[in-house]
Formats: sequence, C-alpha cells, structure tokens
Amino acid sequence: MLIRAAVTRAVGAPLSIESVSLEAPRDHELIVKLVACGICQTDVAMHNSPTRVPRPIVLGHEGSGIVVAVGSAVRKVKPGDHVVMTFNSCGQCPTCRQGIPAYCAHSESVNFSGQRADGSVALNCNGTPVHSHFFGQSAFATHALCTELNVVPLRQDVPLELMGPFGCGIQTGAGAVLNSLKVASGSTVAIFGVGSVGLAAIMAARIAGAAKIVAVDTQDVRLAMAEELGATHTILSVPGVTATDIKTRVGSGLDCAIDTSGNVGVIRLAVDSLATLGTCGLISSAKGADISLNVLQLMLGGRTVRGIVQGDSVPDVFIPYLVDLYLEGRFPVDRIVSYYEFDRINEAVADMASGKAIKPIVRMAGTA
Ligand SMILES: [Zn+2]
Ligand SMILES: [Zn+2]
Repeated sequence: MLIRAAVTRAVGAPLSIESVSLEAPRDHELIVKLVACGICQTDVAMHNSPTRVPRPIVLGHEGSGIVVAVGSAVRKVKPGDHVVMTFNSCGQCPTCRQGIPAYCAHSESVNFSGQRADGSVALNCNGTPVHSHFFGQSAFATHALCTELNVVPLRQDVPLELMGPFGCGIQTGAGAVLNSLKVASGSTVAIFGVGSVGLAAIMAARIAGAAKIVAVDTQDVRLAMAEELGATHTILSVPGVTATDIKTRVGSGLDCAIDTSGNVGVIRLAVDSLATLGTCGLISSAKGADISLNVLQLMLGGRTVRGIVQGDSVPDVFIPYLVDLYLEGRFPVDRIVSYYEFDRINEAVADMASGKAIKPIVRMAGTA
C-alpha cells in the first residue's frame, strides 16, 4: 500500500514527508493506521547520527492508532482494535522468556537495525529500499508495520492521540519509579532532569506516595511544571550546586535518585546526594560515557547504582495500568504534551530542542 512517511535521509537534512510503499503484513505482523506519534529524544539522536542507524530510514517509535490488517498467525489483536506500539523484543532469548523484554538480548537488532531479522525491509520509495522496523514500528508515517510482540491493545475510551508516548517515554519515567526502584510511601526521591521522562517520574512518585519529591533541572519553566505535577522541592541546577546543597534543601539524603540527563557531572551529583542504602537509577545512556564514583562511599553506605531500560516495563501489563491511572486523573500526561499536524514534524522537533514543547506529538489523522 502507498503511505506517507517522514523519511530520514542525509545528515543535517530535515525529515522529508514522502510517498512510500509499505508491504503487506507477514504471518506475525500487523498494520496500524496511525492516529498520532510522539517524538522522543532517541528519534532526534538517531536522525542526527551519521552512523547509528542505516539510511534512508523512517524513525518514530511512539505510535498509536487502529489496527487495519493482520497477518495469518496474529491472535492478539484484530482490525478495529485501538493500540499503542512499544519497543520491540525477540520473544525467544533468556530475558524475554523470563518476561523481562526491556533487556532482550537482541534489543539492538530488533530496534535499531532498520530491518527484519532476515535482512528484509518493509518500505520502498519508487523501488529503492527504505529502512523500516525502527523500534519494530517506524511510526513517523500514516501506517506502520509491527508485530504481536510490540503492540499493546488499549481500552476504547482513551484519547488515542495521547497514547503513543506511553509506549516509550512515559513508561520509562513512570516505570523507573514504580517498577525498578519501587519508590516507597514516605520516602525521599529526586529526579535529575525533568523533561517528559522526568515529569512522568515526578507524577509516578506522587502516585507512589513519596513524601519528598525533588525536581532538579536547568530550566525554570520545567521546574514550574514539575511543581504543578507533584514536586515538593525544585532545585535549579547551576554550576557549583553540590550534594551538600541538595541535602540541606531537602533536609536529608535521597532514598532514590533518577538521572534522565545523561550528564556525567549530574550523575555524580545524584549519587553523592544518596542517603544510606539509597539507590540511583540511570535512565539515559549518557552516550556511552564512563563515570567515576567513590567506592568507599558506595560500600559503606550500602548504596546502589543501576541502569534502567524502558522502566523495566512489561508493556502488556504496565501500559494498561498507566492508562487507568490517567483516566482516574492521577497521571495527567496530557499536561505535558503539545500537538502538531504531521506536516509540521520538523517544527515539533525544533520546539522540543528549544524547550518550547516538552512532549510533542504529531497527528496523522488529517494526512491524506
Ligand atoms: Zn529477547
Ligand atoms: Zn523513546
């Protein structure tokens, strides 16, 4: 079928919306007609990287929409179902078999190779292959091909256009608090970096009943939003801020800290601010940077530093849970999103970079 997709071509060039053709679904695949797709920092990083993904490619990995076609072996969903797509996994490796798909042994190939396991791609432009299957979806398009493994059925009474980010950024922030660190009622938690992922963590910390919820960021506007969403303390992260400053402001060390910034100095600050037996979760890859930590401080205090992917989410379980919280008014994700029509996708990317938009979502509904 012919679809419209935002294609990443040359480095530095904007996304270009083009007509491309999409293959029919294979046995375990299905096609989703997109209603909307969130834009995540990972999309921007891949778009700007000369080597991280093959080109040309269609990015986008926070797609939501309606199932329009299913392969012969698909049982999980049927045409007409409302769904969100999430990260992909292989379903076969030891961690997938343990029900922990976020740490799939084949995560790199099934999310970033731009093709199926057999090397084929699902998209072409006038006969020239275009890489597909980014995060098992390539959802900057009017239609996307995914599999049963990375599609999550939704209840029909939620606004579909809001649901895409639940498949990545929102579950990442909320899951770090609720699944990975299991933030306890009455505890002290700080989120370093309150973009969309960090703000999801702030909202989740309130749901968890944390007594002190600390937002640390370089932008006043984000700190103000964090305060509206549940932060009890906000700290402007300026050069020279120390762990002692943070502990003084908060009145204690941190039981839990979460870094979303990927900034090595900020990670060190987060770890240094931990209370005895505190844990620091690292959500950002920090572009693969090394960090230096004090072993004595970690050891004597029984402190933990751990990496977290996708908030340890089991999407089929965790996303419906978050959706219920949203509908109960306890998880107001709608407060942090800005909508753009699909043909304004480059403006949405620019607004995310400038801080004008916290979580941009592009809508495909009106795209011919
Ligand atoms: Zn796997
Ligand atoms: Zn993402």
